Amino acid sequence: MSRGKKHTGRLVLGVDVGGTNIKSVLVDVRGEILATMKRSTLARKGRDAVIDRIVMTLRDTAKKSGFPMKRVTGAGVGFAGPLDPATGVVFNPPNLPGWSNVPLRDILRQRLKMPVSLDNDANLVALGEHWKGAGRGAKCLVCLTLGTGVGGGIIVDGRVMHGARGIAGEIGHMTLVRNGRMCACGNKGCLEAYASAKGLVARMQELLKNSKGPKRGRVTPENIWRWAHSGDKLANKTIKDTGTMLGVAIASVANILNPDIVVLGGGVSNLGDPLFGAVREEVRKRALPKITEGLQVVGAELGDSAGALGAARSLLLSLNT
Ligand SMILES: [Zn+2]
Repeated sequence: MSRGKKHTGRLVLGVDVGGTNIKSVLVDVRGEILATMKRSTLARKGRDAVIDRIVMTLRDTAKKSGFPMKRVTGAGVGFAGPLDPATGVVFNPPNLPGWSNVPLRDILRQRLKMPVSLDNDANLVALGEHWKGAGRGAKCLVCLTLGTGVGGGIIVDGRVMHGARGIAGEIGHMTLVRNGRMCACGNKGCLEAYASAKGLVARMQELLKNSKGPKRGRVTPENIWRWAHSGDKLANKTIKDTGTMLGVAIASVANILNPDIVVLGGGVSNLGDPLFGAVREEVRKRALPKITEGLQVVGAELGDSAGALGAARSLLLSLNT
């Protein structure tokens, strides 16, 4: 690990606060990682305890790197939305009880005594992948995080596309099926209801209900992957159908934004080639030929440090505006 006097330029902290873990990095302006840290969020202990843990994690990350906190220029924070990146207020994240209209950016500014920026975690995963991961150099990047939900982020010319009120990029909630499956957002037929871990499991259960095949164990994403690899037809069809739904959504997004790269991350993207194959086939079938010609659909590269790296990047960008 590089230490001390070698780095004379700016150092920034980035932190990704999830419902389960807080992940942080200390980086230089080129995104070279000087230290990382991971702590459990302990969301059930409530808002103030979580804020204390964010502050502690950031201080400890600096300490671990060997740099004093006063050498750090600022901290970028990624948080579960919905939130307003312009005002730094978190509205009411469904997976974090006790948070409602919290001015998180300003609270952290006061506690850390440095500039702080705040953005939606999925936007920052997209920004991280654009900065140091699978989407380096892309003019327009779309990133989907396929986990418990489906997070979306759009990067144009190196910056997050925020829209009028900071909420843009919620690709997980684009309607794919009129009167389709219920989504956590209250709408029916959202992409998230089909391409999240829950959606994947729901598809397998639908197929099982209509089949007379052998009994299987508990339907989980891990088991679907395992069954598919041992030649289970229904598990393979589940993955293909999930990829097809994703492909339908991505074809529409591609026609609107004309991205050069679509990055897929999160647990469901670990289904690998069978999923990606179905996605690419469907995108090719549906999107305009000129759009698909220049379009790559690839896996994320940064794994679980993408959000924290993107957070650090967003702080750097905020300093230059
Ligand atoms: Zn939805």
